[in-house]
Amino acid sequence: MNQDFQEITVEQLSRVIDLLHPCMDDYLYVYDFINDFYYISPHAKKRFSIPDNTFHDVVRTHELFVYPSDIGMLQEDLNALLAGERSFHNLEYRWLDLERQPVWINCRGYVVRSKEKALYMVGCINEIGAKQKADNVSGLLGSSSLQSFLYKISAPFPSGFFLRLGLDDFKEINEKLGIEYGDMILRQTAECISKCISSEQKLYRVVADEFLILDFHGGTYKEAGRLYKTIQQQIVRFVESNHYEAVFTISGGILETEQITDHTFTNIMKLSEFSLNEAKRQGKNRCYRFHGKDYEQFLKRKKLTQFLRQAVYNDCRGFEAYFQPLFHAGTNMLYGAEALMRFHSPEGTMISPGEFIPILEETGLIIPVGRWMLQQSLAACKKIVAQIPDFRISINVSYVQVIKSDIINEIVSAAASQEVSPSNVIVELTESGLLESNPHFTRLLKKLKENGIRLALDDFGTGYSNFHYLNDLRPDIIKIDRSFTAKALANDYEYNLLDLISGMVHTLNLNVCVEGIETEEERNRIQNLSPDYIQGFYFGKPCPYQQFTEQFVK
Ligand code: C2E
Ligand code: MG
Ligand code: MG
Repeated sequence: MNQDFQEITVEQLSRVIDLLHPCMDDYLYVYDFINDFYYISPHAKKRFSIPDNTFHDVVRTHELFVYPSDIGMLQEDLNALLAGERSFHNLEYRWLDLERQPVWINCRGYVVRSKEKALYMVGCINEIGAKQKADNVSGLLGSSSLQSFLYKISAPFPSGFFLRLGLDDFKEINEKLGIEYGDMILRQTAECISKCISSEQKLYRVVADEFLILDFHGGTYKEAGRLYKTIQQQIVRFVESNHYEAVFTISGGILETEQITDHTFTNIMKLSEFSLNEAKRQGKNRCYRFHGKDYEQFLKRKKLTQFLRQAVYNDCRGFEAYFQPLFHAGTNMLYGAEALMRFHSPEGTMISPGEFIPILEETGLIIPVGRWMLQQSLAACKKIVAQIPDFRISINVSYVQVIKSDIINEIVSAAASQEVSPSNVIVELTESGLLESNPHFTRLLKKLKENGIRLALDDFGTGYSNFHYLNDLRPDIIKIDRSFTAKALANDYEYNLLDLISGMVHTLNLNVCVEGIETEEERNRIQNLSPDYIQGFYFGKPCPYQQFTEQFVK
């Protein structure tokens, strides 16, 4: 650079700064080494914790507004400049704003010398966040920077990957240890990740507690997996060095660029978000590799959720109640019917309850749909009871209905308003739901007994069947699930087990219903176990009310 600059005085430069500062957002400064004096654009006072825009004792005064852990780095750089090792200062570090929160800045300056002696440094400070949309918590570039970066790359993307990382249960850290502590964890996580990536990889903070690493240099899936592991270990090390004050883990979703067909920023965000969510859904603290098939499945489920919502909004249009007969095993006389829900999607297909019931439960929609189903079942029951007085309607109730709604009062009042006697009603609850020792269940069981409504324990033999519960709960009927029936029919050991179980259930004076009998041969073998009730395709498949009455009631 032209050494004539030594002719310009600090006073003159200060006046130029005064002249220019209304025209710019950045901050111009001059640092006079001879008089240990600093002058910065006056508007810096409105942004940073500086005592004034002019001050002496420059290094010590900097300690008042530079983020404490960055002071060492700044001093080192200044020493190198003063020692004449270089003349250009270019440092990214943090200043404290008026609320003493760190703000990432980039400070550049040129040192003017006279005969090797440093006279002053003149330069400019700009906020990285303001210019490049980086966030001040982690200092990383944000999603808008990623967006503009991707915008410049023409499709298809070079081979490589996106690795989206997210802290597991970060909300808990914020809640338990406070937002500032949470910010510290995010900063430390950003540092941990930064340490692990190569110079060719880019790192962005995409949302609150999520980061995205971009590798457009041929990184393979395996390399992405190794990178994730390294980051995971770095986090463990940090948690240890932080004396386990906050124990947390990180999950990752890998999206290989070859898998991407739609190269828009929005799509990248969607696919990478899906991948990270899958890792979390599969148990957290792990990495998931994007598969198109999983994503299709996810979209299908999302669409089904929308259909179900719409249907509920339209007075449950699309849902239908089916009825499957239950018979007395000894006499083959009709005992009752199990009410089973069906859903006709607007696309014209019938969806199986195995697919849509979990969604209804997850979204809470099972509460309004269950209410609707209850009305349908009781209305059907009322009509059938007129012909078969001891006909029983068996209604499936989900644990969500038990926990989140007043299901028992709903059943009792619906039965009353439909003029169905509670003794004609059976409530089916699954074993797994009941095992939760929850006050809601205790209340439900008590109320069922008080009102004379029978309880059937559904899905028996699919989980950890516990006989103590049978004695405690005293359900009226134990329903042997089809999967257990199928095993018993295929395997002698399971058959003997089922025999033993039904014997024990009978000693407790409870009844056994065997589900899933499909053939005559199966019926005969199951009959030998003396169940009380039987149900299965052999006797009748679930069907609409009209068909049910024609086939089984008339
Ligand atoms: P679940 O309560 O154990 O119902 C018995 C299931 O076994 C029914 O399946 C029925 O169609 C099927 N099934 C009966 N006999 C046979 C047979 O011989 N062979 C075969 N292969 N299957 C047989 P579905 O209707 O698909 O219902 C599945 C599950 O969805 C039900 O199992 C129940 O847990 C749930 N579900 C159905 N409707 C409702 C409802 O209204 N509310 C709630 N909460 N859950 C429901
Ligand atoms: Mg059932
Ligand atoms: Mg069942």
